Amino acid sequence: MMRFLLLRASVSCSKWKGSCRLDEQILFVSAGMLAPKKRDHLLARQQLYLNYGALTLTTLLKRNGYVPVLIHGSHSKPEQFVDSLREQRRLPTSHPVMLSIPSFFALEWAQKFCRYLKKLFPDTKIVAGGRWVVGPDPNWLKQKIPEIDLTSTGLAEKLICDVIDPALWSSLDYRDGAAVDLSGQGELPPYPLDHALVDNFRLFQPSIDISRGCGMGCVFCEERAIPLSKLRSPAMVAQHLSEVINQYGSKDIRPYFQASLFLPNPRWARQLSHEIQEHNCAVSWRCETRVDCMTSETIELLARSGLKVVDLGMETASPQQMLLMKKTKDPDKYLQRASVAIRDFAANGILVKINILLYAGETKATVAETTSWLRENKAYIKGVSVGPVLAFGSPKPASPLIAELESLGARAVDPESAATTGITELHLSNEIDAKSAEEISLSLSRMMMDQRDYYDLKSFSYYPRDYTYENFIRDAQKSNPASLPFKSTMHEIRHS
Ligand code: SF4
Repeated sequence: MMRFLLLRASVSCSKWKGSCRLDEQILFVSAGMLAPKKRDHLLARQQLYLNYGALTLTTLLKRNGYVPVLIHGSHSKPEQFVDSLREQRRLPTSHPVMLSIPSFFALEWAQKFCRYLKKLFPDTKIVAGGRWVVGPDPNWLKQKIPEIDLTSTGLAEKLICDVIDPALWSSLDYRDGAAVDLSGQGELPPYPLDHALVDNFRLFQPSIDISRGCGMGCVFCEERAIPLSKLRSPAMVAQHLSEVINQYGSKDIRPYFQASLFLPNPRWARQLSHEIQEHNCAVSWRCETRVDCMTSETIELLARSGLKVVDLGMETASPQQMLLMKKTKDPDKYLQRASVAIRDFAANGILVKINILLYAGETKATVAETTSWLRENKAYIKGVSVGPVLAFGSPKPASPLIAELESLGARAVDPESAATTGITELHLSNEIDAKSAEEISLSLSRMMMDQRDYYDLKSFSYYPRDYTYENFIRDAQKSNPASLPFKSTMHEIRHS
C-alpha cells in the first residue's frame, strides 16, 4: 500500500491515457434500487442503507492520500442520478468509476446506471465490486452488465489501490476474469470508517465494524461457512466511537455495531462499559445476534454500554423448521434460551426486533407454532421483520441451495429467474405458496407492530436522521394501506 502513499497536492500521472489527476475525486457509487426490496411504499423509499463495505474502501484510499467520495443511489432513477453527478461536476472523471453492487436487488439499477454512464462518457472506465453479487459468478455479472470494464471479487481491501489505476490492472491476480482479493475475509482495519466521505453523510446513521463472519452453518445464510473473527477490543471500539462522534460533531448518533454474529462474553461487555465511560462516548447503539448466545449478565452489561436495539435472527419457533434450516440441533433449548433472552433484553430497556424466515417445507402448522410463540411473547418484542427464504445468485452458485430447498418441498416460482435477475422466489410447500407467504408476512408484522413500533425501529438505524414521526405519518397517509407492515392505531393515519 505504501507505494501509493501520495501527497495531497496536485499530481499528474501518465500511467493512464497520459493524464490522470490523482488529487481528483475518486467516485464510488453504491448502486441503488429501482424499487424497495420488500414492498413498494413511501415509507420504504425513505430508507437509507449505508454501504459500509464501500465506505471501508473509501476510508482506506483516503488514508493513502487519495480523495474519494461515496454516493448512494438509494431510490433515485439511475439516469437522473448520472445527470446530477454531471451537474455537480463529479463527471466526467479521469479515474474509473467504482460501482459497488451491495445486493441482487440493486442489479437492475446498476445495469441502467452503467448503460447511461457509458452512453454519455464512453471513455469512462467502470470497476464493479460487491462481495455477494460479483464474487460468486463474475462472468454472469459481466454478461448482465457488459459496460463494466473490470470486476473485483472478495473484500478488495488489499487490491483497491491497484484497482483504481487501469495501468496496474495487468498486474492483478484474476480468477474467472475478475480481479481477486486472495486475503480471505481480511482483518478488521485498526481505524474507524470515515463517514464524512459519504455524500450527505449526516443523513446516515454510522457503523462501527466489530467482527466479521459467523460460521454457525444455517443453510440459507451466506455467512454459514465464513469463520467468526475475533471481536474488536473494547478499548478500540470506544476509541472508534469517539472518533465517529467527532466526525458528526454530535453525540446524537445511533451507530450500528456491525457483526453478523455479535458474540461478546461478560468480560468483553464489562470492559466495553468501562472504556465508554473513560472515553466519555456514551451513545445508544444497535447490533444483531442470535437468540441463544448471550447470557443475562452480558445483556445487562451491554445495556450499560448503550445497547438500545437488538436484531435477533430467530427465524422460526417451529422445531421442525429449526432443524431443516440447521439453525440449531436442540430446538427445545433454543426456544427456552430465546424466551429468557428476550425477557433479559426487555428488562434492561433494550428494544427487541425478531427476524422471522418463512422457510422451505413451511406448513400451516409450522406457521401456527411461530405465530403462537410470538403472540405469547409479544410484551417483550418491539417488532418483527418477516419474509420468505430467497435463493440469491446466478444458476451456478444458487443451484445447491435451490436443490436443498426443493428437497424440502419448495419449488421456484420462476425457474429462469436465477439466470435473469439472480433472485429466485419460492413456493415454500404445497400448503404455502409465494402469495400465501407474503400474506403471512404481512399478517405477522401487523400482529406484532403498530406504526409507532415500526417508526421507532426504522428511525433508529435506517431513516434519514432528520426524518421525524410527523414526516412518517404524512408519508404513511399517502401510502397504500394494503402494503404497510404494521397495524394503524388511533386516528393518526387516515389514508387519502
Ligand atoms: S447465525 Fe446468523 S449469521 Fe450465522 S450462519 Fe446463522 S443466520 Fe448466518
